[in-house]
Order: sequence, then structure tokens, then C-alpha cells
Amino acid sequence: MTKYLAKIGLEMHCEISKTKSKVFSSAKNSFSGSPNSNVRPVDMAFPGTLPVVNKEAVRLSLMASMILHCTQPEYMYFERKNYYYPDLPKGYQITQNTKPIPVGTDGYVEFEYNGELHKVRINNIHLEEDTASLDHYYSTSNIDYNRAGIPLLELVTEPDLHSADEAVAFLEHMRSIYQYANISDADSKKGQIRCDVNVSIMDASLDENNPDNWGTKVEMKNVNSFGGVRDAINYEINRQIELKETGKYAEMEQQTRRWDEESGTTKFMRSKVDEIDYKYFVEPNIPKFKIDPEWLKEIKNSIPMLALDRKNKYINELGLSNYDATVLVKEKAISDYFEECVNIGIDPKRAANWVTVNIISELNKDSISIDEFYLRPKELKLITDALESNKISSKQAKEIFTKSLEEKKSPQEFINANSQISDTQELTTIIKNILATHQEQIADYHNGHTNLFDYFVGQVMKETKGKANPVMTKEILKQELDK
Ligand code: ADP
Ligand code: MG
Repeated sequence: MTKYLAKIGLEMHCEISKTKSKVFSSAKNSFSGSPNSNVRPVDMAFPGTLPVVNKEAVRLSLMASMILHCTQPEYMYFERKNYYYPDLPKGYQITQNTKPIPVGTDGYVEFEYNGELHKVRINNIHLEEDTASLDHYYSTSNIDYNRAGIPLLELVTEPDLHSADEAVAFLEHMRSIYQYANISDADSKKGQIRCDVNVSIMDASLDENNPDNWGTKVEMKNVNSFGGVRDAINYEINRQIELKETGKYAEMEQQTRRWDEESGTTKFMRSKVDEIDYKYFVEPNIPKFKIDPEWLKEIKNSIPMLALDRKNKYINELGLSNYDATVLVKEKAISDYFEECVNIGIDPKRAANWVTVNIISELNKDSISIDEFYLRPKELKLITDALESNKISSKQAKEIFTKSLEEKKSPQEFINANSQISDTQELTTIIKNILATHQEQIADYHNGHTNLFDYFVGQVMKETKGKANPVMTKEILKQELDK
């Protein structure tokens, strides 16, 4: 693709999942229950009901705005975006447009891609309400209003991305930010992340910083997975190149297309002329309110440690390798698990090793998240403690780990069953008893048959069913024989 340069801009929607209630009503911030079980009159737009702004949703959006280096407004405004659709009972969505100003404007994000730092400018980030969800059946559709009013953050990038993989790396970085800042679980499997993807191609020899050189933008609506984003971008770039190569590009108009997961193609939805006029105006039911600068400072100071900070801490303070630290911070839940291990006293390197090698492969094997993983840090500590105090060997530790997972039993049971005898007194008694019945062999040993030493070790192992600590056994045996 040296002849053409792709320009990609993303509109990423992410539900704020960490508030207790919806953005304008007291219904729970949850839509997993049975359909229409979590709905307040205001979510249904009953006449006479009024929205009440959720302060925590505003706080979290301001925090996101800060993390994205955006400018925060002096006043918070909401606006009406007017259109009709069955998933939108009010006939409008309460959102924020760029006029007067949303929760964040003119920011940027830096993220790692292919070992380099890439920068994407953020046009704006705004807080809005999610719509209801529609389930389509053969001849009917059901509307579930549980999702209506779930807080949603939409961020709009400038078209600074140039490939499908780079766009996905950006989205993964954003997901990590939302998770680490405790704004959202940002789980695309739960439908919490959705993207509109804008793609155009331009002549690679021209200056991409001059918008006059940009090609005609095609927007793809509601791409629901990162894999979908990658495929949709690649498909669209190739489609547009083909139009260029066959001389049809000039006829192509600015348009909105739909990404069709099944066929792996984009389908025409509407052209620019059919664009909906949303007739935005400031939401009259929510008077603008001033954002206290002191509150902004508080929010700024409460931004949690993000992935990159944790990674640096793991390397610089806990002595982990760059590789281990990178693996650990990829998912916040995994990083949290690791930190809990360290907090309760497992050696950091040992904990990192268990998590990155043994635990992650179990998670992949069973396709589960670490929150669903049976062994909690305090159970893992039973194993690492037993290992450290030489009660069990490292081979036994792995066996115990596997067994407790298979049988869903505390490792303690298996540790007790397996643990070595490493009590000096106990071992001495056992050894003395054995020697007492082997006078003849002791005499031979002292007469130069030193290879009998291994025979005595064997007797101790036989007596203890292999549980005697071998190093200690040898030490004590030597002492006793040399007496
Ligand atoms: P619209 O007026 O159609 O909403 P905007 O200028 O608001 O368009 O941009 C919407 C999104 O499209 C943004 O993410 C922006 O980065 C992206 N975009 C704008 N122009 C282009 C282009 N020529 N190629 C690719 N993406 C673009
Ligand atoms: Mg726009």
C-alpha cells in the first residue's frame, strides 16, 4: 500500500459500568437481568418525568477527559439529539455535542504499537445515555429497556490512524485505560464497547496534514468487536483501492456503511445527502451547572495507577523482567490478582512466575477470566509457603496446584498428604530406630564399606514412604554413624 495512505478515525463508545445507577435515573447500572426488569419511568420517557444527572458518571467522564489530556469545560451542558427509533423511547438521546462544549476537547493519547510510541489526537469525549437493546427474531423484534440510560462515553479521534492493526492497538490501549481507571469493565463480549469506524485513502505522496488532500470518508457503524474493527478496516481499504485502480473512486460519495460480520463485507446504508438532521439543542430539563475547580483537582489526584505505571513499578520496585511485567499488566484483573499475591507476602518473582506461566495457561485452557479462577491468592500462598519451607518439592508444588484445580479442594489437603518430614527431632528418632536394628551393617560400614550409606538412606525412605527430607536425612545419618 505504498501508493496510498489510509486515514482512519474512530468513534469509540464505552459504557461506564462502574456507577451504581444509570446516568439520568435511579435504576441500577446493569442490563443483564431479565428483559425490562430494570427500568424507571424516566428511562421509558413517561410524561412528567425528569432526568437527574448522576454525579459519579460525571466524575468518571471528567477523569477520562483528564487521562486523555483533554480540556475540561467550565460548565457541564447536555444536549438533545433528536431522532426516532424503537430503541429510543423519548425520541431523542441526551448527549453532548461539540456546541457549547462536551466533557473533554482537544486531547491526545499515546500508546505503544510495534515497539514505538504512537500518538492519536482526540477531537472530543462526551457523556451520553445508551439506548435500549433490540432482539430480532424471525417475524418479531423485542425491545429491552434495561439498557436505556446506561451511561456511555463516546470519544472521537482525529483521523490519525493508518492501519487496521494500529487502530486495534489504540482500542486495546483505551480499554486498558478504562479498566485501570475503574471507569468500566470495558468488556466487548458484554457489548460494552462499540465503534464507528471512518476510513479513507489518499495519495501517499501528498501531505497528510492538509485536510484538502484527504480522500472521501466512509463511515462504518456499530462494529462490535476488535476483530470486527480490524476486518472492517482492511476490507474497506481494499475496496477503496480497487475503486481507485478501476477509475471509479471519483464517483464514490461520502457514505455510511454497515459492517456485516457474517459475510465479512461492508454494505451501503446511506449517503451524505440522506444524513439525518439531529436538530441538536441544549437539553432544557438539565440546567447547565458549574464544575467546581476544587472538584477537578480532587478528581485529578484520584486517578488510579494506569497500566504503564504499574508496569514500571513491577520492573523498578519489584525487580520483574520487562516481559513478565508486560504480560501481567495486559489485563487489569490479572494485575490485581498478582498484586494481591504480593500484598499477602508471596515473593514477587515467585508470584509473577506462577501467574504468567501456570495460571494464565489454565485460564486460556478453560477460557475463563482470572476472577473465575478457583485458586485465590491466599490458596496459592499455601503452596508457595510449603515450597519455601521445603515441605514439598517444586515438582510436588505443580502437582498440588493441578490437583486442587481438578478436585476444587484447598491445596492444604494435598500439602498435608505430601509434605516432607523435615523436623530434625522426628527424623533423628526414625534414623536412630533404624540404626538400632542394623548393628551388623553399621560395623561393615565402619570397616570401609562406605557404600552402605546409601543403603541406610534407602531404609529411612522405606520407613517414611519417601517423605523424609533427603538433604536432612543424609546430614543426620552421617552425624549418627560418625558418633
Ligand atoms: P461528520 O461530520 O461526518 O460527523 P467528523 O468530521 O465529525 O465527520 O468526523 C467524524 C469521524 O470521522 C472522526 O473520527 C474523524 O476522525 C473521522 N474522519 C473525518 N474525516 C476523515 C477522513 N477523510 N478519513 C477518515 N476518517 C475521517
Ligand atoms: Mg461529527
